[in-house]
Amino acid sequence: MRKKIVAGNWKMNKLMDEAVALTSELVNMVNDEVQGDVKVILCPPALYLPVIKRYIEDSSRFDLAAQNCSDKVSGAFTGEISAAMLQSAGIGYVLIGHSERRQYFNESNAVLAEKVNTALANVVSPIFCCGESLEQRQNSDYIGFVKNQLTESLFHLTPEQLQAVVIAYEPIWAIGTGLTASAEQAQEMHAALRGHIAEKYGREVAEEISILYGGSVTAASAAELFASPDIDGGLVGGASLKSREFTNIIKAR
Ligand code: PGA
Repeated sequence: MRKKIVAGNWKMNKLMDEAVALTSELVNMVNDEVQGDVKVILCPPALYLPVIKRYIEDSSRFDLAAQNCSDKVSGAFTGEISAAMLQSAGIGYVLIGHSERRQYFNESNAVLAEKVNTALANVVSPIFCCGESLEQRQNSDYIGFVKNQLTESLFHLTPEQLQAVVIAYEPIWAIGTGLTASAEQAQEMHAALRGHIAEKYGREVAEEISILYGGSVTAASAAELFASPDIDGGLVGGASLKSREFTNIIKAR
């Protein structure tokens, strides 16, 4: 059985007291209202992780992810945070390859493969983000492009390692734009990616990998997206900054 996951990517938003307030509201609402086995992963700015951890500790439904980690192991890399540091702080997940990291920090598929390796070596599960731009969708083999992101950053892993990875398909044209991919468009890509994994690792492994959809997910669009057979949950940006809206998205899963 694949894990059902709804993750909230706060990006570079919220001051410390706002982050704490959002977390306590969320924990209360989710504990009161959400049934079933959906896992909720919060991705606050790294500075807040140990503080936010205290607020979610009593609820096994919640986990934390960093928004990034270094591809290096340790040493003279001012400003960076290693996967070993995340593990030592009790952080179970890390976003790797978000399109904003790829775009603004020039993270290549090869560097992302290194980040995946160091995360797994430290028992931190990567949430590996992939997705095409609008231009790629309109003018090229966009499915092939996203498949290749997986090939170049993940397909060196053993089947056991891959099973610790969560994949998040986030079409760049849908991120922060209010343009959600339709359930058909998302399902098409999710099925293609699962098929791609199956070709390399076999059906059984492919069926175990959670593939999340991200890109302007709201409480209004979540239920239809999550009803698609290959969509196992969501990676939510803007709508995860509001406790009511995010709780409603979690309930839709
Ligand atoms: P969005 O962001 O929900 O605001 O579109 C999603 C993401 O970037 O993870």
